[in-house]
Amino acid sequence: MNNYGIDIWSDDNFIIEEGLAKVNFASKPSLISIVKEIREQDFKGPLLLRFPHITNKQITTLFDTFNNSMKEYDYKGSFNAVFPLKVNQLPNFIQPLLSSGKKFNYGLEAGSKAELVIAMTYNNKNAPITVNGFKDKEMVHLGFIAKSKGHDITLIIEGLNELQTIIAVAEETNLPCPNIGLRVRLHSGGSGIWAKSGGINSKFGLTSTEILEAYELIAENNMIEYLTMIHFHIGSDMNSIKPLKKALRESGHIYAELKNLGASSLNSINIGGGLAVEYSAYERSRFYSLREFASDVIFTLKDIAKQKGVEEPNIFTESGRYISAASTVLITPVLELFSSEYDLQHLNLKEKNPPLIEELNALFTDMTKRTSYEYMHDAIDHMESLLTLFDLGYIDLQDRSNAEILTHQIIKKAISQLEVEDYEELKKLDENIQEKYLLNFSMFQSLPDYWGIDQEFPVMPLTHLDKKPTRSASLWDITCDSDGELPFSSKKPLYLHDINLNKEEYFLGFFNVGAYQDTLGMKHNLFSHPTEVNIVFKDNEVVLEKILESQTIIDILDDIDYDTREIKDKLKENLDTNTYKILKKYLNENSYLKTIWSYNE
Ligand SMILES: *Cc1c(COP(=O)(O)O)cnc(C)c1O
Repeated sequence: MNNYGIDIWSDDNFIIEEGLAKVNFASKPSLISIVKEIREQDFKGPLLLRFPHITNKQITTLFDTFNNSMKEYDYKGSFNAVFPLKVNQLPNFIQPLLSSGKKFNYGLEAGSKAELVIAMTYNNKNAPITVNGFKDKEMVHLGFIAKSKGHDITLIIEGLNELQTIIAVAEETNLPCPNIGLRVRLHSGGSGIWAKSGGINSKFGLTSTEILEAYELIAENNMIEYLTMIHFHIGSDMNSIKPLKKALRESGHIYAELKNLGASSLNSINIGGGLAVEYSAYERSRFYSLREFASDVIFTLKDIAKQKGVEEPNIFTESGRYISAASTVLITPVLELFSSEYDLQHLNLKEKNPPLIEELNALFTDMTKRTSYEYMHDAIDHMESLLTLFDLGYIDLQDRSNAEILTHQIIKKAISQLEVEDYEELKKLDENIQEKYLLNFSMFQSLPDYWGIDQEFPVMPLTHLDKKPTRSASLWDITCDSDGELPFSSKKPLYLHDINLNKEEYFLGFFNVGAYQDTLGMKHNLFSHPTEVNIVFKDNEVVLEKILESQTIIDILDDIDYDTREIKDKLKENLDTNTYKILKKYLNENSYLKTIWSYNE
């Protein structure tokens, strides 16, 4: 693997040219040039780069694909979409999304009161709002207020009690009633790790008995005109289209049955989200194209409408991951390669060394290209024996230090000699010759799904892409938590370059991180969000917009409800003015590392 699986995951958004990772748009800038421009403004630490043109591409592709497919099938209903705010609520992501969506009447989906407030404030005029999730009376009332402000809003009920709340609010206020949707609990489940969102044991939705009860309750209260939508959501990141087809059949029939019962305003089926994203650099995980997805949805619904003699429903989707994931890249500076601790200048051989150490020294000195593989192998064996000798008390700490340094130096020398021809040989030893790369970021803050549910993300260096990477790499973040590690895996190996960080900088990009990671991220160890920048293109050239610096230490403490005045007062005690001045400066910087101090410098 030399191109880091870019053909699988990048969807042509990023390309490799002249050894650099580049944005495949407008002037095609390299990511490293963007990173340098930002860091010149003194923003250190990790960076989160958002590319609104990619969000725009996803929205356009979604609408164009569905609309074309509808034309092809002569479908009578309309295509509509909303962005589910839970996937990414941040203003710097949402604002460009709304501008891109304007011409398509792209709306928003809210799953909580706070998200509903965002939708009520910022949604494009006349674009739909759908509301999912559990709702209390206040949230239902908010829906009525949104309606009275002129929004095209549909409250999708998860249970009969929510319907009763809607009826109560309608009676108690004289506000206009929003549209009502019914979330159905499907017999068919979803696929993948998220399958519990759908299926009969799902947390959400009405059973068939409840659907009939709901319909009666709506009819009794003369609210038939508001019942407009059937909704389901079978789960996120669907890797196959099969469960969707079953869910479409099931919900399509529910729609048709209700229409035939007398639900005359019912006109839409909302198929939820779930369009998948390629996260792996090793194998494809999405087994359908958007075209196929769209035509399956349209064909199935058309077929059922015909069979049952009802009008073809308008289609709504709520895919979020598909819209947002690709738009964001996390950039992490590499702070250190751990083997750099084993620099030759620290070697301190004795007059008389234990025989195995003498032998290591000879392996190191005598190694030639021809013998490098064999010598490296021997060195690793010797190292193991020496560690046993140390545990038994036969060699001292200085011997051990010499052994470690020599072994690492032998590995490095062997790798550099083998690099070109014997790459495959080298790979056999991967597990033993790993290099640890220390990255300036927090896994918990920036890739929470990696930590929580083993979600893979594509990772690739921004430079050196024209050179063969030779080090089998494990990645470590700067939290003090041993879970903040992406270990080397021989099944899905990551190879990186052997870099002398005293001479040059080296950055890794994590791709497709725009869905869910931003707001799921947590301040473990009190590392807050990275510095964020929107990268837009004006007249073909890069413009940095909406730079949002990583939180300062004092703001982080304020956020978790410390009394920052007290902190400052206490810190000031017993300090001379100058020292306190420096301390205050530190408090107003973010908590990521600037550099690693190295005594080799
Ligand atoms: C989470 C969620 C979505 C978005 O799912 P994606 O997998 O991100 O497309 C859509 N609809 C509902 C009801 C959801 O809960």
